[in-house]
Amino acid sequence: MSILLPRIAIAGIAIESSTFTPYRSSAADFEVRRGTEEILARYPFTAPTAQYVGVLHARALPGGQLDRDTYEGWKAEIVAGLTAATEAAPLDGFFFDIHGAMSVVGLDDAEGDLITAIRSAIGPDTVVGTAMDLHGNVSEILFEACDLLTCYRHAPHIDAWETRERGLRDLVVASAKVAAGGARPHKALVHLPILLPGEKTSTRIEPAKSLYARIPELTAREGVTDVSYWIGFAWADQPRCKAAIVAFGDDAGAVEAAALELAGAVWDKRHDFEFVAPTGTFDECLEQAVASDQRPFWISDSGDNPGAGGADDTTYALARLLARPEIRSGQVSALMVSLVDPESTDAATALGLGDAGSSPWAGGSMPASRAPWRCAPRSRHWTRPRTRDAQPRCACSTTTGRPACRSWSPGGARSGPPARCSSGWACP
Ligand SMILES: [Zn+2]
Repeated sequence: MSILLPRIAIAGIAIESSTFTPYRSSAADFEVRRGTEEILARYPFTAPTAQYVGVLHARALPGGQLDRDTYEGWKAEIVAGLTAATEAAPLDGFFFDIHGAMSVVGLDDAEGDLITAIRSAIGPDTVVGTAMDLHGNVSEILFEACDLLTCYRHAPHIDAWETRERGLRDLVVASAKVAAGGARPHKALVHLPILLPGEKTSTRIEPAKSLYARIPELTAREGVTDVSYWIGFAWADQPRCKAAIVAFGDDAGAVEAAALELAGAVWDKRHDFEFVAPTGTFDECLEQAVASDQRPFWISDSGDNPGAGGADDTTYALARLLARPEIRSGQVSALMVSLVDPESTDAATALGLGDAGSSPWAGGSMPASRAPWRCAPRSRHWTRPRTRDAQPRCACSTTTGRPACRSWSPGGARSGPPARCSSGWACP
């Protein structure tokens, strides 16, 4: 083994993007870290001993497709940073810190495009490792460009940091070994033509529970370091979105056998995945809710789920709720959580605490969902937004019908000139 510590670079862009919303994610949606100190500070664990070179890491909550200019700018910055780092001294390893379900306007495989550019900067000899969300996608391009790939083993994701720590630790070990003249790990990928939503694949229920529970036994085998099962991302319409099993380790035969065994088990159970709760049209669910004596009665609209990239601003559910006489009359109370609407927020902001007003309902980013609502916002409580929420973001003004820049600050919403919107933003 080399007595020198392995030299490991870190970079990545992490977002889960729904391609079914017209909303476009831009730089304002991201928390961006630059440099080694800032990037290592992101990890709540102690990074394994190595020489680290942090370049750029951008991370956002789930959203829409990332606008192309922002992506290309960050990609160029990452490539330039890695080129400079490589020229200073060869990189033994590179940690690709991503979610795995990023969509960029005009690209079908955003992470594949980014890792291809990164490989062009760091060269073929650097060992590349990644740690992803199990709702990410493993394209052939991503698999070929990475030596070690792993993902979460729980949904809900209680093991996100544990997974990154495992991924970084395995990368540091493999990089040191290769730098000392050792062999690169063997790897195997099995794609399965199955695409399931998160609502059917909680690891707290069967069959996902038992399938993921097989992993510790597989990774305990001689010559197998890691085995992972990506559910894939159902909220993007791209060829790469499908289930994937990846294994890596020092024994090619054992690695292949482990990947095939888990893939076979998933394939055998492919018809057994069920929704975690009863399903129906919104009206069917509402009918049940009104008739039920169970309170509270929850109805979840996963399609416009802001936790999976939905814009959370469609008014369909609001319209159906208001169409029920029991709800209009107050016989049945309904609480709709939540609905994003900057215009109503503006109107509420202008009110004193506790006062009620009136404002047109913007109706969201989906033109079909727009409705001539008027709502009566009441200002009940203010919380101080987090710092990054004060960043300007583009919105479509319902008064002018044109893009407007809007930011939130502790004092409320502020509007600005459209020139501050990212280029290419247009009202739907
Ligand atoms: Zn996920």
